Amino acid sequence: MDKLTVRDADVTGKRVFVRVDFNVPLEDGKVTDDSRIRAAVPTIHYLLTHGARVILASHLGRPDGKVQDGLRLRPVAERLSQILGRNVPVTGDALGIGTVDAVKRLRNGEILLLENLRFHAAEEKNDPAFARQLADYADLYVNDAFGTAHRAHASTVGVAKLLPPYAGFLMERELAMLSKLMENPIRPFAAIVGGAKISGKLKVLDTLMSRLDVLVLGGGMANTFLLAQGKAVGKSLAEHDMVEEARRVLAAAEKAGVKVILPVDVVVAKEVTRGTEYKTIPAEKIPASWHIVDVGRATLDLMEEALATAQTVFWNGPLGVFEIPSFAHGTRAIARYLATRADAGATVVVGGGDSVAAITQQGLADRFTHISTGGGASLEFLEGRELPGVAILQDRPAPPPKARATKRAPAKSAT
Ligand code: ADP
Ligand code: MG
Repeated sequence: MDKLTVRDADVTGKRVFVRVDFNVPLEDGKVTDDSRIRAAVPTIHYLLTHGARVILASHLGRPDGKVQDGLRLRPVAERLSQILGRNVPVTGDALGIGTVDAVKRLRNGEILLLENLRFHAAEEKNDPAFARQLADYADLYVNDAFGTAHRAHASTVGVAKLLPPYAGFLMERELAMLSKLMENPIRPFAAIVGGAKISGKLKVLDTLMSRLDVLVLGGGMANTFLLAQGKAVGKSLAEHDMVEEARRVLAAAEKAGVKVILPVDVVVAKEVTRGTEYKTIPAEKIPASWHIVDVGRATLDLMEEALATAQTVFWNGPLGVFEIPSFAHGTRAIARYLATRADAGATVVVGGGDSVAAITQQGLADRFTHISTGGGASLEFLEGRELPGVAILQDRPAPPPKARATKRAPAKSAT
């Protein structure tokens, strides 16, 4: 999946519409995690230093087509201004005469940010008239918003149909890293899948199965697998209508020779809240009125043993209710262990908002090979689905046939 990138475009003096993913967490009008902003900086910096006129566009939260002051992009623009060391003005609206004027006044090497695209319902509807208005701002289109590439919205698909579309550097890197997992992972290849529910992750398990050597299951989704193994899970989060599916996945793993690690001991709690009573017990003995909230030490040992030789690892989803510190032990431990695997040279890729949060909280992010900025998008990609925002970008033309012919020539003359 080789797409043309900003490097392939002549951007000097051009107005470039850049779809970025600045959907970041805010608290009291301040950005609490700026990773997504920083991830878009290489593309922005490249465009500015090459004399482009940069029009940034993003969504933030779910305003559902209405202006919400709490979801204005001003705090994002402030953070980006600090990072770039220059002022990044944000328009009052993505559309309107004032914005049209502001775009017209942009000179080479200047930048502005359009206000939250999702203040217009037309954005998520991929409304052609809205896409046309956005496209009219620019000469070229760049998509650096991998996290939104699984959505066919006006700014991810509509505008890309109207202008020559290119991938940004973040998009390029995300596609390269995730393709590596799909195409030729260095073996052994292991996946760790946790998080709340199995339902959203079944397809990715199916797709990965033929490629994997080891599958580690944890978090709430492992509970449904425990049911499939005939164990009781008490009051734990579990999907009783998915037990058959879980059984099917386990059978497929056995058939494919994939080693599956499921919890053998778990932390159970009286309630899924802070300050409640909790204890570690074998997975065979879950009391009827307790909740599984984390994996136990014996399980972590098994997981680490199974991952010890893995050369490629994909991790999605925490191993427990890590938002509550007493139940974060398994998730934090696996994050630390995977960092040591990456230090040892293994390719370790993480996707998923909550798993990534667990890593950044511990300051481990830099040690991983790749941390995807797109949770849902990375899963859909690994399901083997074509993401609409990626499909619309221009493929790099195949190398000229001449070059191939010369390579084959000696073999031909030898016969
Ligand atoms: P990611 O964002 O990394 O893809 P998910 O969104 O699928 O992960 O799942 C994260 C959620 O799963 C967290 O809110 C966490 O509390 C929850 N979770 C993990 N283990 C359990 C469990 N045993 N019971 C209930 N919820 C769980
Ligand atoms: Mg999540």
